[in-house]
Amino acid sequence: MKSYNAVALAIILGYGLACMVAAPGAIGPWRGLAVGAAYFLACWFLAGVYLADVLHLGVAHRALDFKPWFIKAVTIVNNLFGIYVGPTDWVNRHRLHHKHSDHEGDPNKLADDGFWRTLYLCVFPYRCKENTATDPICRSWTFRATSHWLFVAPSQIFNFALLSYLVGSWTFAAVMWVGMRIFALWVNMIQNYWTHTRAFGYRRYEDERDNAMNIGDWLPVTATFSACLQNNHHHYPNLLRLSHSDSEYDFGLLTIKAMKALGLVAATPKGAMIPADVSLSRLGL
Ligand SMILES: [Zn+2]
Repeated sequence: MKSYNAVALAIILGYGLACMVAAPGAIGPWRGLAVGAAYFLACWFLAGVYLADVLHLGVAHRALDFKPWFIKAVTIVNNLFGIYVGPTDWVNRHRLHHKHSDHEGDPNKLADDGFWRTLYLCVFPYRCKENTATDPICRSWTFRATSHWLFVAPSQIFNFALLSYLVGSWTFAAVMWVGMRIFALWVNMIQNYWTHTRAFGYRRYEDERDNAMNIGDWLPVTATFSACLQNNHHHYPNLLRLSHSDSEYDFGLLTIKAMKALGLVAATPKGAMIPADVSLSRLGL
């Protein structure tokens, strides 16, 4: 089994067992497992829509045109009830990551940074030396409020207290809250370490300027909403889908299709343009 899949399964298994053990008597182990699974799936899905779809393809790359009210609603709901990620900082870091991929100026990782160094950088990235997030949405009240340092700690204390109240146990809530964030670190490591280290995954494009790799396994593709197809994405960052072949599994695209059916998003002209050497028979959106 690949190391990244083994780490993910260990985290998921450990999370499930810890939920069963920590669930209070009134809930019991099996219902504790169900509650833990519901919290896990809700946080994962919300964070995926917020980061991979809305912030990444919608704001950072302008490949998708989301309804502004939807961008703002997802930003508020994720950062108030889920795993906090400052929207403007993230957009800036991501644009600098593309501009300087794996080199000086990339906030995520330099070519020689190993596993533990990259793990540290997931929480404390390199300092950004320029500001590329100057879009009108970044100056909106919603982005400025959720990016403010005064929002960060209170929002996370609030959602932890709310979770504790709903499940009737600080300990059980702490297991779910911390466990979910450990899984989120793994998701971050898939994108920053495993798909930016040439020892893992495969390459469709032999780009020498970066170390971006594709990982196409079911679990990482689902967990990251397809953001682990980094080699594809770095080669054509403006395309609205990260799979570049009809046979590549693309969970992120499925979520975008669902949101399009709900009238929440449309493709931008540059996002919908399939480059000549991409072997897709159709856009699929
Ligand atoms: Zn990107």
